[in-house]
Amino acid sequence: MRKLYANGWVVTMDDAGTEHPNGWVLVDGAEIVAVGGGEEPGERLSGYHRIDCSGGVIAPGLVNTHHHLYQTLTRARAQEADLFTWLRELYPIWQRIDAEAEHAAARAGLAELAFSGCTTVFDHHYVFPEGRTGIIEAEVQAARELGVRLVASRGSMDLGASQGGLPPDSLVESLDAILADTERLHGALHEDGPGARIQLVVAPCSPFSVTSRLLEESAALARRLGLQLHTHLAETVEEEAYCRELHGCSPVEYLERLGWLADDVWCAHCVHLSRDEVERFGATGMGVAHCPTSNLRLGAGVAPVRALLEAGARVGLGVDGSASNERGDLLAEVKQALLVARGYDGSAAMTVRDALRLATRGGAAVLRRDDIGSLEAGKQADLAIWPTDGLEFGGAEDLVAGLVLSGPHRVDRLVVAGEDVVRAGALAHADEHEIAATHRAHARRFAV
Ligand SMILES: [Zn+2]
Repeated sequence: MRKLYANGWVVTMDDAGTEHPNGWVLVDGAEIVAVGGGEEPGERLSGYHRIDCSGGVIAPGLVNTHHHLYQTLTRARAQEADLFTWLRELYPIWQRIDAEAEHAAARAGLAELAFSGCTTVFDHHYVFPEGRTGIIEAEVQAARELGVRLVASRGSMDLGASQGGLPPDSLVESLDAILADTERLHGALHEDGPGARIQLVVAPCSPFSVTSRLLEESAALARRLGLQLHTHLAETVEEEAYCRELHGCSPVEYLERLGWLADDVWCAHCVHLSRDEVERFGATGMGVAHCPTSNLRLGAGVAPVRALLEAGARVGLGVDGSASNERGDLLAEVKQALLVARGYDGSAAMTVRDALRLATRGGAAVLRRDDIGSLEAGKQADLAIWPTDGLEFGGAEDLVAGLVLSGPHRVDRLVVAGEDVVRAGALAHADEHEIAATHRAHARRFAV
């Protein structure tokens, strides 16, 4: 069945930045077949369903490039802490995670993100308490229930406190177990090619929670399986000091030694980079998940995004987990990225459309996906459709600027592969209130 999403301001995010203020998007099954403005193609079609978007903004579904879904269970903790203090307080609480809690957390987190326009979510999960199985499978199940795309990861920690790492020894795993489970999940879950709904990434947690050997062997495994690589990097000055003391170099230099500066890698944060390191990111095709709200919440600093883009690095946006960015809202992150770029480099540092591009095309490039991130013929039909008739849009003639600067925080409709995930502002396949109640029941086990 073909569907025509009509009567909207279509912001395609194609290479030319094409927009159709009175536009439409024609979808056949899971794919977009045509995008245009002005006269609708209706008379030339038969047997199609016309969906009136009531003058709303029709944008590509947003792509979240860094998240920790389990952290919805532990919001608003360690409120004044820096990263290392925050982690030390939360590790013992996170140790209570199991598959049931992860499922509840993922449903809540993915639903919240879906309302904010997000159709594809990368989740970095690295907490695997001994004996608890099925955690990644639980979040995959949640994504399938809601209808969104999930790029899951087999994260890992193998450097406990007794060996000079940050996490408690009780939360680290053996290198062999980590690699074997990663390979098992690749076989069980990973989809290749256009339209993939579930993918897997190899994602050791951070330079201060994994060994050099695990970083090297993770890279070798990912390259053998054809998977992307991800970790946290250069988030705080404390991490920089830790790395210099332990390895005699900066976090970026450390990763470069281990073969991690490459075009199949993206890293979260990348706040503390030298000018030379920014250039190295561009030259090697590195990707960056820019997480401005989380960085501000933990007092970590602001990533040099303008410089990274000019150097040629791939840059997308990340909400980051709900323990360091309590609100799972990727559209809010678009505005935050705009504000911090201007705070860092002045008012011309980023336009509203550049900011929205980070969350769409930028995110797709970071995840190495060329089938999502823009509204063009042949791409997946992943659409975020925003209402523009509410209080917050009054007076905004440029609806794309209105969306970024003053936009609503709930889509009217969210479409993944041509199927509704959100319809009339409500989840199409699940009950938001049941999800919230179940989540709260599980969250009680994570109280201090
Ligand atoms: Zn993170």
